[in-house]
Amino acid sequence: MQCERCKNTDPKYFAYDHGIYYCRKCIAFGRLDVGEKPKVLQVSHVVYKKGYHLDFEMTALQKAAAEKTLTYLKQGKSVFVYAATGAGKTEMTLESISYYLSQGKKVGFAISRRQVVLEICQRLKKVFPSLSVIAVTQGYTDIVDGDLIVCTTHQLYRYPYTFDLLIMDEVDAFPYANNDLLQEIAQQACIGQFLYLSATPDAFSLEQIQAGKMEMVTLFKRPHGHPLILPVVHKGSIWIQIFWIFYYCNKWKNKQVLLFMPTKREVQLFYRFFACFYSCAYIHSASQDKDEIMAKFHQKAFRILLCTTLLERGITVPSVQVIVYRADHPVFTCASLIQIYGRVGRSFKDPEGEGVCLCQSVNPSIQDCLKQLRQMNQSV
Ligand SMILES: [Zn+2]
Repeated sequence: MQCERCKNTDPKYFAYDHGIYYCRKCIAFGRLDVGEKPKVLQVSHVVYKKGYHLDFEMTALQKAAAEKTLTYLKQGKSVFVYAATGAGKTEMTLESISYYLSQGKKVGFAISRRQVVLEICQRLKKVFPSLSVIAVTQGYTDIVDGDLIVCTTHQLYRYPYTFDLLIMDEVDAFPYANNDLLQEIAQQACIGQFLYLSATPDAFSLEQIQAGKMEMVTLFKRPHGHPLILPVVHKGSIWIQIFWIFYYCNKWKNKQVLLFMPTKREVQLFYRFFACFYSCAYIHSASQDKDEIMAKFHQKAFRILLCTTLLERGITVPSVQVIVYRADHPVFTCASLIQIYGRVGRSFKDPEGEGVCLCQSVNPSIQDCLKQLRQMNQSV
């Protein structure tokens, strides 16, 4: 027995109901009986030849990377775009999206996190003003077809055998990474080529590239031309680390600071303590009013934001400085540290900045993070 959706063959995941077996592994996406194929959604196919429109000029390197990506896709190959944080990954895809749409083909853009789906949908609406660009995610599921579909990786279960080009952003992020159910669903949704985007490729993707199953295009230079920042590492006990937090928060007195902590408990505890000295707030996955806290931070209503890895990706705050407390804690993987320090120096006005890495010992994740940042800076 095999499930036609998630490819599960493990008998313990099949349930028996009135003479029929059905798969329990992917039941969250609707019941599918053994032998039954997932229902194909009838989607529209627009032929769109107007190209895309940007308010700014892409750099020569961005253009070259975008063209190279499209060349591989035209050859029927999937592509992995390995781009530094802030290098403009989304722009890399526009040339390819335009080409597929001009051929009357279906394009999907899938991302792990809901917040980023909404953000990218807004951006693509501006870039393709005469297309219906729709977001499909929790709270936005009334309309599931448009000329261009932006969705969470979870929502891909609605689109079996649908996309000629499926763009997958943040494949190394939770919940997509290491989730074979979501990965099977993505495989099933795509009948053409994949375009993966990441600042931190995982071992599996690298193997696929090595084996020639997919092509890689790199873009390590940020549009403003400045290198990625390398964090300063300070080793010491927790008390010494706290001393450094005070030292840097005072040193950067006119700048906003993101202060990453490994756990929600520490975020709350330190918030009470730091609130006696600085204007600050905290945010983690259980915070009720996340949008409001972020809006206030963007408006500079307070200076220091204590957070967990919740904020490691997707957010862009101009001129922000970053501190990671207990960076040797296992929640801070190499990929998440690269993302975290990638928050610094993203704006044209303030392309430089500082990052601080506090730890008791420099573990392999920290070592790898520093090594990869150096490599990216050297290879541009
Ligand atoms: Zn299944």
